Amino acid sequence: MPAGLKQKDPILEIQEFDPKTNLKLRNWFLKEKRDLPFRKNRTPYSTWVSEIMLQQTRVAAMLPLYEKFMARFPKPEDLASAEEEEVFRYWQGLGYYSRAKNLLAGVRKLVNEFRGKFPETLEEALSLPGIGPYTARAILSISYNLPFAVLDGNAKRVLSRLAMFRESGPKADPILQKIADSFLNRDFPGDHNEAVMELGARICIPKPLCTQCPLQTDCIAYQNGVQESIPETEKKKKEIPLDIRFYILKGKQGILLVRYPERRFFKTIYSLPFSFEGKNPYEPDPVLDWDLKTSDLGIKFKHTITHHKIQGFVSETELDAKKEKRILEDFRKARPSIEIKYCHWRDLETEFPSSIAKKIKQTLAKNGAVLPGLEN
Ligand code: SF4
Repeated sequence: MPAGLKQKDPILEIQEFDPKTNLKLRNWFLKEKRDLPFRKNRTPYSTWVSEIMLQQTRVAAMLPLYEKFMARFPKPEDLASAEEEEVFRYWQGLGYYSRAKNLLAGVRKLVNEFRGKFPETLEEALSLPGIGPYTARAILSISYNLPFAVLDGNAKRVLSRLAMFRESGPKADPILQKIADSFLNRDFPGDHNEAVMELGARICIPKPLCTQCPLQTDCIAYQNGVQESIPETEKKKKEIPLDIRFYILKGKQGILLVRYPERRFFKTIYSLPFSFEGKNPYEPDPVLDWDLKTSDLGIKFKHTITHHKIQGFVSETELDAKKEKRILEDFRKARPSIEIKYCHWRDLETEFPSSIAKKIKQTLAKNGAVLPGLEN
């Protein structure tokens, strides 16, 4: 049996870890940990922001945005009193805007109901919007050194290999949580959690660098030569090819942007109106279920949203007062929740904070397409 494990726990059916394994991991972490901005002057709030930003975003991509965000909203009170539109602007580049929306709602609740002080119990932490079990455990362990083991993708991979636990997916999570709890270094839970995740991010990567790993002699998967096949890969969600047409509708006040939560994408942010084209598995959106009499600009661009491989097209039209009134009435009839605003062409990326806005502009510029009235 590898040095890191003791006898089987008869109730959990998992191996107990040797405390020396924890020690090795902690020593490695203290020596090797990356000097990341969100590890400096840590508060529960800054840990919260960084953890939310790191969901679905790589550290390198997240760092500059994190620093700008924290410079503008250094304390929970600063964020709580900000307008959602401004928060979204600072979120631009991270995508998945529902995270920003939930963070804002959570921080507002923190300020209003907890006087800005992050709670110290799991139950209260979980009562904040946008905080799930992973984030709550991460904040409580890292900021207050409370004994909660975290389980993100990196931690799951490390723990599965250490304990040679093959399964993956939602059904495996409760067992992995027990493995994580059993491995937790209760003297230093914050460092421990970060160390497990750091090991998973840098050494115990999908093709693991076992020769550089401090836990090589403790790892059952490595000892059995099966580390690369653990955890078993979950079936990937099938890719959905999707043709989407975006509409540049130019009224007197500028380009029309819309927001409504019933649609498939951009539920929380303003965007150009868009519709699906051709074969696709989704219901047509009644907001654009009539002929807008637009002209195709003859450009296309590629974009990915989760498992959707998108091919984007763009059409445009000028709206005279009558047409604009009719379109707005039709929009509101189709979706009473719809919100509308206008922006200038030059502000499209800030007002429609998705990289799609940039792609549309870049593709138009590359193709030399001319949009009358939009150049200035
Ligand atoms: S020995 Fe290899 S598989 Fe095991 S924890 Fe280290 S890097 Fe991962």
